[in-house]
This record gives sequence, C-alpha cells and structure tokens, in this order.
Amino acid sequence: LGVAAGGETARLAAAPARAVRRHAQHKGSFGDVAVVGGAPGMAGAAWLAARAALAAGAGRVYCSLLDAEAPLLDPTRPELMGRPAWWRSPPATLAAATVVAGCGGGQAVREAMPALLAHAGRLVLDADALNVLAADLSLQRLLTRRAQPTVLTPHPLEAARLLGTTAAAVQADRLAAAQRLAERLGCVVVLKGSGSVVAAPGALPSLNPTGNALLATAGTGDVLAGWLGGAWAAGGEAFATAVAAVWQHGHAADRALAAGAGRPLRAADLVDALHASA
Ligand code: AMP
Ligand code: MG
Repeated sequence: LGVAAGGETARLAAAPARAVRRHAQHKGSFGDVAVVGGAPGMAGAAWLAARAALAAGAGRVYCSLLDAEAPLLDPTRPELMGRPAWWRSPPATLAAATVVAGCGGGQAVREAMPALLAHAGRLVLDADALNVLAADLSLQRLLTRRAQPTVLTPHPLEAARLLGTTAAAVQADRLAAAQRLAERLGCVVVLKGSGSVVAAPGALPSLNPTGNALLATAGTGDVLAGWLGGAWAAGGEAFATAVAAVWQHGHAADRALAAGAGRPLRAADLVDALHASA
C-alpha cells in the first residue's frame, strides 16, 4: 500500500503477527533489557520504560537509574531489578543486552553514552540520550561507527536538534526528516507524533496508522522505548521490530480510547493496556 506525502512514498504499517513462545524456551531466550535513565526527579520515566520492556516479554529487565539516591526497586513491579551504573559492566555484558537509554536521563545520561555506543548490543536511544547526542559530535561519530544496530525514537523537537533545524521544519515533511536522520546517522529512526514514521537507511519509510491524542501525555514515549526494547531483546530485525512496536503502542491507545469514554490515559495504564493486547 503506497501513500504519497511530500513527494516521498511510504508503506502504511499493518498489524504485526503475534509472537509465539515455544515449549522449551527459557528466560535467556527472550533476552536481557537494561534501561539507563532516571536522573533525580525523573526515575519514573526509567521505571515506565522498564515496565514496558517486561510487558513486551523480555526475559530479564534491569533498571539503571542515574540518581544515586533513588530506590532500587519498583514495589509494584518486583520483577524489575535495580542495577546502578549497570553501564559500567564489562563490554561482553553490554554486548549481550538490549539497552534502552535516555528516558528521564537529563544531562547525567551523557556519562554513560560512550560505553553504551561502543559496546551495547541492540541500542534504543530516546529523550535525553538524543539531546546529548545532538550536542556532541564525538558521540555522533561513535554512533555511526557502531557494529550493532541502533534505533532512535525522537519526537519532532528531538529530531530537529539532531538535524540542526526547527521542529516546524521537521513537521513540514516528516517522511523526509526521518529519512534524512536515518541516512545521516545510519540508524533506524522512529519519528514520533500523530502518524509516526519509521525510517531506515536505504529503505522505504513506514507510516504508522494507529494511535491518538490520548498518547499526548507524559511518559508515553518512555513506554514506547521500553516496549520496543523489550520486543527487540528476543531477536529480530531492527526496522521490522520498530514498525511492529509503534503499531502496537498506538493500537493499545486506540483500544483505550474506545473503552474509556474519553478518560485520559496515564502512561502506566498504557503499559497494562499493551500487556493485555500483546
Ligand atoms: P514523547 O513525545 O516522547 O512523550 O512520546 C509521545 C508518544 O505518544 C509517541 O509515541 C507519540 O507518537 C505518541 N503521540 C503523542 N501524541 C499523539 C497523537 N496526537 N497521535 C498519535 N500519537 C501520539
Ligand atoms: Mg519522550
């Protein structure tokens, strides 16, 4: 299915197939996710991403908060494990994990970036990880040299910072902006917002038809980053995994809209809605 937009062509994303668990699989089959984020006052963003990764089926989920004073546990989700400074683990540990970095990370996430860019296996960069990347050419060089795949999940302003332009210019041609960012940094790019675009170097971009303005609230982007990381940890190709995760994230919000009679959606409830529809 092709759609014309801004002189470019995209493929409309369709409902992904359900993941199947085979009888003899164990938690190692579904991979480890480490969330690196949560500067002081922002721990919630990292816990939301961690909860979403767990809901997506990751085998083990670690939450590495950048606030040294923050509690090491999310009492309502005892499955999650606090791991301060996890990103200082040996390179082999980083390489074996799927890392979701940046959620609520503030400037503190910068310290973790060189190690993550150099060694993390699958890597999802969101929020402040994108902001520190935009401000630092040496980090961008590390990113473009990565041997392992990376997914960036910017909203329009984060994408604008990375491209050195304005959010209005990004919004004026979302397909082109996402594609340019993907080509420039050699990454899969999820340009979020109404009609999220997923782009990869040399590929036709995907336009997501699900989602609604119930998602326009704090924390839903953190949930997407964690959900994507949690699904990716089991294996699979970055672009297809991102397209599927974005579709499911929007679809859960569409179901909440249909069921909720216009009630606002809280990001933690979105995690539960995703889990229910996974
Ligand atoms: P963030 O900007 O990082 O908080 O992420 C917000 C999330 O909600 C992204 O996944 C957006 O695509 C999604 N979102 C926000 N507003 C809308 C909207 N009006 N329609 C569809 N998705 C939206
Ligand atoms: Mg965000």
